[in-house]
Amino acid sequence: MSLLIRNATVVTAEETKAADVLVEGEVIKEVRPGIPLNAAQTGIDATGMYILPGGIDCHTHLDMPFGGTTSADDFETGTRAAAFGGTTSIVDFAIQGRGTRMRDALDTWWKKAEGKACVDYGLHMIVTDLGGCGLEDMDELVDEGVASFKLFMAYPNVLMVDDATIFKALARTAKNGALICMHAENGSVIDVIVARALAEGKTAPVYHALTRPTRAEAEAVHRAIAMAEIAGAPVYIVHLSSEDALNQVREARDRGVPAFAETCPQYLLLSIEELERPNFEGAKYVFTPPLRTKDNLPKLWDGLKHDHLQVVSTDHCPFCFEDQKILGKDDFTKIPNGGPGIENRLQLLHHHGVNAGKLSLNRFVEITSTAPARIFGMYPKKGEIAPGSDADLVIWDPHTLYRISAETHHMRVDYSMFEGFEVKGNARTVISRGEVIVDDGQWLGRAGRGKYLKRTARGGAWK
Ligand SMILES: [Zn+2]
Repeated sequence: MSLLIRNATVVTAEETKAADVLVEGEVIKEVRPGIPLNAAQTGIDATGMYILPGGIDCHTHLDMPFGGTTSADDFETGTRAAAFGGTTSIVDFAIQGRGTRMRDALDTWWKKAEGKACVDYGLHMIVTDLGGCGLEDMDELVDEGVASFKLFMAYPNVLMVDDATIFKALARTAKNGALICMHAENGSVIDVIVARALAEGKTAPVYHALTRPTRAEAEAVHRAIAMAEIAGAPVYIVHLSSEDALNQVREARDRGVPAFAETCPQYLLLSIEELERPNFEGAKYVFTPPLRTKDNLPKLWDGLKHDHLQVVSTDHCPFCFEDQKILGKDDFTKIPNGGPGIENRLQLLHHHGVNAGKLSLNRFVEITSTAPARIFGMYPKKGEIAPGSDADLVIWDPHTLYRISAETHHMRVDYSMFEGFEVKGNARTVISRGEVIVDDGQWLGRAGRGKYLKRTARGGAWK
């Protein structure tokens, strides 16, 4: 089957140009102005629209067990919601159980996605235990296309690993070319502050934020980068939330250290006041790291503009307010940590970034698609509009008005973190490997069509 998208403005990380895009089968065949339409092709007129490479969300948690419950979107509802918002690839996290093999976790997560994923998906592996065959397991996983591993410096006794484990993992990637992703917060210190707050009867949602100071994030970012330097490996900081932490990344990058970091729309647009909403509604904004004071927001935008931050992901990890967030009604530490966002990333970044003059159109494409493709070993199959690349394309209407609401979103969760936000610009038509899966608000895809993305080691972070 072949598809010709005509009269559009093609936007990539490098340039903006008038061109037609010819798709043959699952890949892009040609990109140039004036490609003639023949009878065998389906034509799509994209006058007045942009064509963007499909969005890549490299930080999602679908069907993830946490604190006695499971994130509300599975691979079907989560990837379908992603597609509606113009995201055509995700990288989710498999979790190694302590004392078990990483291979088992990979099989478990493949099963979760099987028959469900609506767009292509890759997997990172969360490492909780490097005893036994852990280091050999990392090599095996790299061969399976799991080219990145995440380690936690927070959540003692649950996910946290010690510095020796982090250093061993970093050192192993210097050999196998994978990338280490760090959840950077000093969990040991935070747990002491949390225990003190609970002892003082401070149980409301806002204490989730007040017990996790930005210095605890900055300290861990600094330590993660220092260990990566000693190991001779790059490092990628996930969901960076504060100016304090950002300064650590910038300082390292200024010295030429291959340190990379992502932030998320919630840290760019929301602040700690949300956690003070009445009737326990602050729990809707409980995720980790927490929302910060307002003065951090412009610093993060500035970091994106100047490439101190390279990526915007969502850390999509939805829990319903009514029956999941409520688990922490009397104790903020029991509120499932996470918020929904997989559907709204491009809308929010386009409106509050491009329309507001904070990001160029090309930078918007770079941080939402091309940079994650490069850093996580998917480029140029993903994240690019060029002959040979997968035909993951978004026909983006920059003028349409859209109001974000839980009443109309496609995520399987009963609230929106961005309820009532009005944005200008949204995905009109979404194409995944040559197949139109969303058109004008209609779902045309199907569960199970998404393929596992086998990613390559020594991606952009190593160059
Ligand atoms: Zn996460």
